[in-house]
Amino acid sequence: MRSVLLVHAGAGTWKYLDRESIIATLENALETGLRALTGEGSAIAGAVEATKVLEDSGILNAGIGSVVDLSGHVSMDAGVMDGYTGRAGAVASVTYPRNPVVLALKVMELTDHILIAGSPADDLARRLGLEKHPGPSQKVLKRYKEYIMKGYSGPYVKSYELAKKLGIGDTVGAVAVDSKGRVAAAVSTGGVMLKFPGRVGDSAIPGAGFYANRAAAAVATGIGETIIESFLTLSAVNLVAEGLSASTAAKMSIMKHTSISGPDTAGVIVVSSDGDFGAFFNTNAMPWGYITSDGKLGISGLPKK
Ligand code: ASP
Repeated sequence: MRSVLLVHAGAGTWKYLDRESIIATLENALETGLRALTGEGSAIAGAVEATKVLEDSGILNAGIGSVVDLSGHVSMDAGVMDGYTGRAGAVASVTYPRNPVVLALKVMELTDHILIAGSPADDLARRLGLEKHPGPSQKVLKRYKEYIMKGYSGPYVKSYELAKKLGIGDTVGAVAVDSKGRVAAAVSTGGVMLKFPGRVGDSAIPGAGFYANRAAAAVATGIGETIIESFLTLSAVNLVAEGLSASTAAKMSIMKHTSISGPDTAGVIVVSSDGDFGAFFNTNAMPWGYITSDGKLGISGLPKK
């Protein structure tokens, strides 16, 4: 059967969108991910490689483009799940690795744990010789200073409400199905701007920000707290397991999520083990794209001009 890979660049307002850069970044991630997915490759390799490209883009809220917390520091969450083996790996609140998704994969491959958090996870990244994160980008620091000057600070800032106000987005993720019908999910984020230091979002939690089993794989984006409350990706994958198509499952899981958490909160991409796929979001936009091993590529979810 044909292999399929989907990527997204985050659900949100996308008020300031550089269309060309986003499209080029999504296409680069799709093409790189497809190479890792086909031939001797696998769904998990495809999803991780695509997510790594998005982390390295510097223009999205993951990897080197990650936003900062209230104290002005980067801390990131990431997760991966292989639907065929049922194994997951995740890291929370890490600061060391340039590519947290690679560390999440190592947690899955090298340990019998699922989630490792904070400085021990950073130590693991160091010991494994993973590349070091360069620290927040100038663009992110400029935004941070502007927000602080506008008074968006204080020890109990409500980052969920703030995220709605300032606009969430730019988290990255990928789902894939390989020629053997195995599915996988990968997700990575800097979280939400001005989050409380130590805050962990949905991207480190299986069933919330990412999930995969023998039927389907899904990754979510949006306000992490709401995604944890609705267990969005578990809900989407369960709908496929019950017999719905991936696109109907994406739509229905977001409709259910919206009924709990309200609009402007989340988006999801879904792929099923038979190669069907779909995406849905309740925000202004969620740039996403797909590529297939039989030569189709499409980009969608950009805000209207
Ligand atoms: N879901 C991410 C988080 O809350 C943010 C995002 O998707 O933009 O950590």
